[in-house]
Formats: sequence, structure tokens, C-alpha cells
Amino acid sequence: MIRSLLVVALLALTGCAALPDRSRAPQAFAAARDNPVALRAFLERFPKGSDLHNHLSGAIYAESYIRWAAEDGLCVTPDLALAAPPCTAPRRPAADALGDQALYDRLVRAFSLREFVPTADAPSGHAQFFATFARFAAAAGPARTPDMLAELVDRNARQSVLYLEPMILLGAFEAIGRAAAVAPSDDLAVLDGRIRAAGVYDLVPAQLAELDRAEAGMRARLGCGGAAPRPGCAVATRYILQVLRNAPAPAVFAQIALSMALIKADPRIVAVNLVAPEDALIARRDYTLHMQMLAYLGARFDRPPVTLHAGELTPELAPPDDLRFHIRQAIEIAGARRIGHGVALAHEDDMAGLLRLMAERRVLVEINLTSNDVILGVKGANHPFRTYRAAGVPVALSTDDEGVARSDLTNEYQRAVQEQAVDYAGLKQLARNALEYSFLPGDSLWQSSAFDDFAAACRGERPGAVPAGPACRDFLAASAKAREQWRHEGLMTAFEASF
Ligand SMILES: [Zn+2]
Repeated sequence: MIRSLLVVALLALTGCAALPDRSRAPQAFAAARDNPVALRAFLERFPKGSDLHNHLSGAIYAESYIRWAAEDGLCVTPDLALAAPPCTAPRRPAADALGDQALYDRLVRAFSLREFVPTADAPSGHAQFFATFARFAAAAGPARTPDMLAELVDRNARQSVLYLEPMILLGAFEAIGRAAAVAPSDDLAVLDGRIRAAGVYDLVPAQLAELDRAEAGMRARLGCGGAAPRPGCAVATRYILQVLRNAPAPAVFAQIALSMALIKADPRIVAVNLVAPEDALIARRDYTLHMQMLAYLGARFDRPPVTLHAGELTPELAPPDDLRFHIRQAIEIAGARRIGHGVALAHEDDMAGLLRLMAERRVLVEINLTSNDVILGVKGANHPFRTYRAAGVPVALSTDDEGVARSDLTNEYQRAVQEQAVDYAGLKQLARNALEYSFLPGDSLWQSSAFDDFAAACRGERPGAVPAGPACRDFLAASAKAREQWRHEGLMTAFEASF
């Protein structure tokens, strides 16, 4: 107690810059790093800022989908997919699983990578992973989005995460539907006119109302504003819209267009991302066309933030020519500010030049260590994590699909320590990157991405506290990003003072 009072007193006297030297957190980390049990406990409490690459439906654990399917009267097909009623034989009510442990276990395995062993139908983690989504989709519809968001933010709040930008589907299927009869055109201006005529942009108000319902439902489930709010109420959320890229060109274009119109219409929606297997036929064949669509529509919509799954490939999954350019085109053509995965780095043309480009433009790589292990079979020294860091490319840790992969963000930090030799200073940098390179609007709290001093308005202020000076108060009031960074530094200060 006396020591923590001393730390607080020192903090008040010296500001933030002096704290890391005086904290015993690095020593506590050093003592824990070779003990996985102690390390897990240390890292669970360690403030992590954000999880920048998180697909909402993939973040949900199979056990939740089974419970919701039972509540909603859904059925289980013989090949272990959820389906709408009636549950006529050979289908069974999903509720049966709650009284049948064997069926329950089979469903958990069908909806995730738990205890995965290759079979003829699912010969790899890649095949199993992408097959899960269709199996649980019936329980992951819009009516359950509030439950999914509540599970996500609560789990992350318990791991000292304070901001999330989950990837969600909002209007994607509706846009695909309206584009179904649209004829393709190589002229993107012509295509834009056709999808407008088909009513794609008219979808905006209904989709924003859908997001209103989802957020209100989440808050209700968490009891936010009530007497006993759950921890997730403290997690701020914005959203990245997913575009299903393995679709006909007009349908991909329509989804990107709707997504960018939604970003422009509502500050809760911050970016767009192309999803679904990058090695699939259409994703490979139309890759450059998709980048051109993002460039064209980006120019039309004032260049909204774009992050892209790029280089989530291995030589086994795609031919050599497809491995040579995805990351570079995502940045140079589509203007991506972040790259998801980037695993195929070494196969890109002029890797050294690409790394220089990413370092200069501050393009962050969303690193998904567990996902890359279980889906791509890439881990440890084979992962480019250390190469990116050595080249000065910003990186952050993320889960990709924590429910399907049976992971969480703490586990990703643990892997970074155990498999990638990240030290304590590195952990702090990863967490700060997750907010610095988030798509939150506003100026950074930091003077530079070296994170060595606050912006002038807040220099010398005590992190996380109500600022003493009006300049810092005004600065935080004007910047959503700086506010979350301020909260994070407060959590970090408290964490470090606890040792
Ligand atoms: Zn992903």
C-alpha cells in the first residue's frame, strides 16, 4: 500500500515519462515469461488497447451458438449444420444437444477447430475453418447480433481491452441481391450507375436502423446504464464492414459502394474490408479488379479507411504468381491503411522494397498468430512477424476468429512472447499500436508513433486522470482516438503501479 501510494506520488510529480523506469512490471514480466501459467495471468491483466482484426461471427464460441439455436427452435441437419424449422427427420431439434452430450460435442467440433483432425471432407485446418461459418450461420443472423456483440465486448473487457472495431456484415446480402441482375462492365463509372439504378444506395437508411437495433440490444443485454452494468459496457465500439469477395463483380462492387456510403453516413462505421478465402477462384482471378473498385469508389467517397486481407496465402494454397502482388496492390492500388495477415510477405516481388513502402506509409499489419497456425500452418520462425518489426513496419496483435479458433487476445499476446520473443517494451508497443492505428477519428495522443511523449497539449499530464490543464481537456474532447489512448494509458499506469 505504501509503495503504491509512493508510485502515485511520484507519478504526480514526474508525469508519465518517468513511470516505466520506476515500475516493477518489467521484472514481474521477466519472472513470468518462462512460466506459461504465470504468463497467462500477467498478460490477461496487461492493457491491450484493441483487437483490430476481429470478425464478429467468428468471435463467438460454439457453445453460444448451440444455446441460441436451442432457444430459437432451430434444427440440426445430419451433416451438423443449423437450419430453420421444421425439424423433421432426419433433422433433429438443436435443443436435443442440451440433453445429449455426444451431439453437443459433435456440434462444438463442427462449429470450431476444437480437437480438429483431418478427414476426407475437411482435409486441413483451412478447410475446416471456412466450413464452420455456413454451419452456424442460422444462429448468427441479425436477431442475434446484440448477443454476439455483448459476448465479444464482455470477453474483451475482462482482458483490459477498451476499444473494438469488429468486422460485421451490414447490408452485404441485400447489396448482392440488388446487384444480381446488374450486367458487368469494365467501366466502373458505368457499373456505379447501374448499381445506383438497382437501388443499392437506397439501402443505407434501413442498414443504419439495423445497427441502431444491434447496439441498443447489446447495451440492454449488458445492463449498461443500469445498477449492475457488465464489464463490456466500458468497451467502445466502431465497425468495419465486410465485403464478401467471392461473388460476381457487380455484387462485389455493390457491397463496396454500399459500405462506403454507410461509412460516409455514420461515424460508427469506420472502414471496409474484403473477406472470404483469398485463395478461392474469384478472389484470385478478380484480385486486381477488386483493388481497382476500392480505388474508384474510394475516390468517390473521400477516401474512407480501407483494411484488407492480403497475403493470407501459402504456396500450398495458391500458385506462385498469385503470391507475388496481393499485399503491394492492396496498398498501392486500393490505398489500404492496414493489412490483415500479410503472411506471404516473402513471396511478394521486391520484399525489401515493399517493407520500405509499408514502413514509410505507416501501414500496420494485423498479426493473427493462432489463425495463421491453424488455418495456414505458419508459425514460429516461419511467420513474418519479426521481419515486419525489424523493418520498422507497425504491427498489432489480433485474434481474427477467436471463437472458431478457440483463442482470445491474451492468448495471442502469450504466443507473441513464447513464439516470437516479444519483450516487455514490445508488448507495450503492440498495445499502443492497436489504438494508434485504429480507425478512430481525431489526432493521436502521441507526439509521434515512437510513443515517447504526449502531444504538446497533454505533456506532463497524469495519464488517465482528468487533465489539470484546459488545453489537454480540449484536446481530448476533440479527438475520439486520443480519448481512448488516454484511457489506455490510465489503465497501463494502474497496471504498472500494481507491481
Ligand atoms: Zn480475417
